[in-house]
Amino acid sequence: MSVSHRTPPVETDGIDKAVVTDLWIDGSAREASDGATYSIHNPARPTELVGHAASATVDDVDAAVRAAHAAYRGWSALSYAERAERLNRIAEALVADEEDVARRSRLFCREHGKILKETLLEITRLGDRFRQSAAYAERLASDERVSGPPFDTIVTRQPRGVAALVVPWNWPLSILGAKLPQALMAGNTVVVKPSRNSALAPAQTLHRIAALLPPGVVNVLTGSASAIGDALIAHPLVRYVNFTGSVDVGRHVMKVAADNLTPVTLELGGNDAAIVCADAKLDEAAFLRMYLGAFMSSGQVCMALKRLYVHASRHDEVVDGLTATCERMIVGDGLLEETDMGPLNNAKQLKVVTDMIEQARAAGCEVRECGQVPDEALYADGYFQKPTLVHRPDPALDIVREEQFGPALPILSFDTEDEAVAQANDSRFGLCSSVWTEDPERAVALSRRLEAGFTYLNAHGPAAQDGRAPFGGFKHSGIGRNLGYEGVIQFQGYHSISAPSGWFG
Ligand code: NAP
Ligand code: MG
Repeated sequence: MSVSHRTPPVETDGIDKAVVTDLWIDGSAREASDGATYSIHNPARPTELVGHAASATVDDVDAAVRAAHAAYRGWSALSYAERAERLNRIAEALVADEEDVARRSRLFCREHGKILKETLLEITRLGDRFRQSAAYAERLASDERVSGPPFDTIVTRQPRGVAALVVPWNWPLSILGAKLPQALMAGNTVVVKPSRNSALAPAQTLHRIAALLPPGVVNVLTGSASAIGDALIAHPLVRYVNFTGSVDVGRHVMKVAADNLTPVTLELGGNDAAIVCADAKLDEAAFLRMYLGAFMSSGQVCMALKRLYVHASRHDEVVDGLTATCERMIVGDGLLEETDMGPLNNAKQLKVVTDMIEQARAAGCEVRECGQVPDEALYADGYFQKPTLVHRPDPALDIVREEQFGPALPILSFDTEDEAVAQANDSRFGLCSSVWTEDPERAVALSRRLEAGFTYLNAHGPAAQDGRAPFGGFKHSGIGRNLGYEGVIQFQGYHSISAPSGWFG
């Protein structure tokens, strides 16, 4: 990716033209104030240009925040039912035009690397989350009451104002779906900053959403965070920041927000443990769920299974079963129907995971790189890594301690459940976890002992996510919760209206 000035669209691979996406500020698409764009290439074929996104400037940040601020009064004055109606309209419009959905899906696949099935899933999930937030209208509209001498108090809530929504590259539309509908439903206006590594399909999608709302309600700034990130977070008219991304950037965002005492929600990294108990049901379907938990989106998922702890009595069975599942997977161009796993999104992320694999190999671990590669030349050129299983690593190795965010899974074993819980909790992260057992009581008892914001049973990751429940982490995995009803009311602050008892009648 390089910063350049606006280049006209050019033919690329005959499937789609290189696209150019603009910013969206105050109700219309516009170029960056200095006309700059940057280019995005296909991670499967790094020389293939996919498109150019506008590279916002600090002036654009100011214009976007001011537009959101100006729109706030009108948008926040609507009733919940009125906002829900608009959100439902957006949900319908997002998937109404099948051709448009298919084209955006392909574009998303080419700029990101993930397979078409997943890009489509993200696009549909975004619509579903608009519908889900809208469904809270009635519950949101009812205030709580604390009544009885000496006071009667109405506990109501009000939106926070302009919210900055910062989205990472790995699941850009699903994660947008965990912030944007909720922020809007709560009555905020927003400035969205997609990641520079996956900006084209998100920008196109956001433009469609923004166009269905009054000017200024949704504003979109693509570009590089090093140019505009701090200006957005520190803007005095930004009243709330909802950030998803890495621990280091999250920590920085919190510091920058502190100057203006702007509250933050941070969804950060994870290093999720799965505990496979002695009584787990381990059939082909279970191994497929385990595979998806660890390797969906080439493992670039915050809530992916990243450490697998197996009861010693079932260890070899899990190794064999998971290896067989991984061996069946086809690794290649996400645009092809038969592909199960695409490349990683970028060279830096590929290096993070391959360095961890190499460290484990150098330490003497058995490392199995599985899967089938129909196109070796593509594999060599693109940012690919096959699904990789690392056997019995020393718990001090990076592949166990750190977030790999790629297709490599360490498999360890345990003898007692106490041992499994201790190992699972021995992490600075606390995002998600999973327990695999046939016994519901054991499942819940073990889950309660895990330091995590979410525990899946006999599954793991996005395919098993119940979006009606709050989602987020403990420890370095973050602060606050997105999704569910809680995900909407975090975009509001409490407001108590109180009188002497009996005064309201
Ligand atoms: P990242 O480097 O932290 O970037 C996240 C977002 O923050 C991007 O849009 C980035 O923009 C922006 N950003 C960077 N510096 C900023 C600043 N000073 N002010 C404002 N925004 C700034 O993370 P990533 O590499 O995109 O995503 C991978 C990480 O996200 C992993 O650690 C993963 O676990 C985590 N994640 C967590 C969750 C969760 O829900 N807990 C979900 C998904 C991902 P640029 O792209 O322009 O740098
Ligand atoms: Mg790890």
